[in-house]
Amino acid sequence: MAKLITLAETGAMLMAANKIALVCHVSPDSDTLGSALGLMLKLEQLGKKTVILVDDYIGTEFKFLPCIERCIRPQASENIYADILAVIDSSTFDRIGLAGKVVKAPIILNIDHHISNAKFADYLYLDTEAAATGEIMCDLFEVMKWKYDLETATCFYAAISTDCGFFKYSNTKSKTMMRAAELLSAGVRPNEISDAIDMKSRNTIELLAKVLATLSFEYSGRVAYVTISNDLYDKSIPTDSFVSYPRYIEGVEIAVMFKAVEQEVTRVSLRSSNVDVSEIATKFGGGGHLRAAGCTINAPIEEAKQQLFTILKEIL
Ligand code: 5GP
Ligand code: MN
Repeated sequence: MAKLITLAETGAMLMAANKIALVCHVSPDSDTLGSALGLMLKLEQLGKKTVILVDDYIGTEFKFLPCIERCIRPQASENIYADILAVIDSSTFDRIGLAGKVVKAPIILNIDHHISNAKFADYLYLDTEAAATGEIMCDLFEVMKWKYDLETATCFYAAISTDCGFFKYSNTKSKTMMRAAELLSAGVRPNEISDAIDMKSRNTIELLAKVLATLSFEYSGRVAYVTISNDLYDKSIPTDSFVSYPRYIEGVEIAVMFKAVEQEVTRVSLRSSNVDVSEIATKFGGGGHLRAAGCTINAPIEEAKQQLFTILKEIL
């Protein structure tokens, strides 16, 4: 069970270390990447040695993030020694993949905002009210009296704005917007970040057209889902935004995207208007937030659908 710590304790712990290994979750998004990169940049300005690890493919859509090229993919054969393993925006240990095995550190520190946090770390700073881990990073900067520069501000703005759907989701608080305003004062241009995030390759839109053709409904239209079968699946094409299409259909309470990442491995993304989907994802070893969650089901896609629908039937 993790020891819950304050932001001041989190900052002091980082400052007491010489080398910090920052780790993002697999299927990386702007929040995990932006939060870890912004923190890395500040720690380096303060004279710390850092390494940043992501055990997954990092899509080209993130190339606008400062220093994204510094993210390295851990190799099974290596050992990386550090004073702290800082797990950023991940609610479970397995969600950092191989990085959890490769990094040898006496302290595991977890900074997170997921309601489903499994409290796996030695020390945990958890704020489930924060719209994004990026918002927590801004809180940390304030407590530590660290200043933003354009690069750190860009990282945190990208982190915050994507996790709250550009200030649209219910996790958007007045504080979320205040933090965003501070980042704009540091020079961030919101249009440049949203343009970079919204820009899609032709391949992505062509895949979206095929995925939308799979749109189906269950339970009298209360559940809508799309399917990315294994023959459509292409790791290099970002599909995170696709689940928003079934989400915004009148009468739909739960939207699901099933993605056959392997013949027997199905990734599931859940979105809802009201139902706690984090609880559903947790039943399959995943997690997330009340209205956005995900999990991996180790079964072929049609079997995974049946497993999930069985649970949804109980809930609806
Ligand atoms: P997405 O559907 O965009 O992959 O994820 C939605 C939310 O659920 C994100 O906050 C993400 O971090 C969380 N999430 C997605 N998949 C998993 C998973 O397999 N395990 C855990 N713990 N959280 C997940
Ligand atoms: Mn997040």
